[in-house]
Amino acid sequence: MTSVRDNLHAVRVRIARALERAGRPKDSVLLVAVSKGHPPERIREAYQAGQRQFGENRVQEFEQKRAALQLSGAVWRLIGHLQSNKARRAAEIFQVIETVDSARLARRLDDALAAGPPGRRLPVYLEVKLSPEPTKAGCPETELSELAEQVASLSRLELRGLMTMPPYSEDPETARPCFRRLRQWAERLRLPELSMGMSHDLEVAIEEGATEVRVGTAIFGERQ
Ligand SMILES: *Cc1c(COP(=O)(O)O)cnc(C)c1O
Repeated sequence: MTSVRDNLHAVRVRIARALERAGRPKDSVLLVAVSKGHPPERIREAYQAGQRQFGENRVQEFEQKRAALQLSGAVWRLIGHLQSNKARRAAEIFQVIETVDSARLARRLDDALAAGPPGRRLPVYLEVKLSPEPTKAGCPETELSELAEQVASLSRLELRGLMTMPPYSEDPETARPCFRRLRQWAERLRLPELSMGMSHDLEVAIEEGATEVRVGTAIFGERQ
């Protein structure tokens, strides 16, 4: 098994090259290490190699791992679908939630914050559904403007950007139209962050304007 440290280095090089090719400033993409399906030891290796941003996709899985992962300065981002009934706990254990896809969920998160320490605001992204696959979570494009308005009106949520997960394809070029569309939406809604691109298509996402890529396999290897 290759070391997490070497893998992380290789991914950072890929990001730097893609930024350069796209004529974008150095360090203008945040690398989120997607640690779902991997044990705390492996995640700690990434932390020791300087990684601070992590993505997990299930509240329950992270709940089980987090006691072993009290890493100072680490930022935990929820990147998987969130059910309203888990919103309260998610708001407690994650620092960023990238998968808000309904007004109901947004209100639940806002209510959860109201019950917590005063003054805390939670950065959130809207997950956008850009493909017709019935299983893909996310807000349909036809409802996106309205959802953005509703979320922006909640005082304890800080609407930062959009995220999407295109249908899986071996060919990274397949995702390009989705990435481009997400960027157009972010411009229209005046949102600064674009979370898009994974292990196999991060270059295409960066060319299309990603400000954040979510990379699992290329850092940690295959999931169990
Ligand atoms: C698993 C996952 C990723 C990372 O995928 P890899 O192909 O392993 O890099 C990114 N985003 C989301 C939402 C995921 O669930």
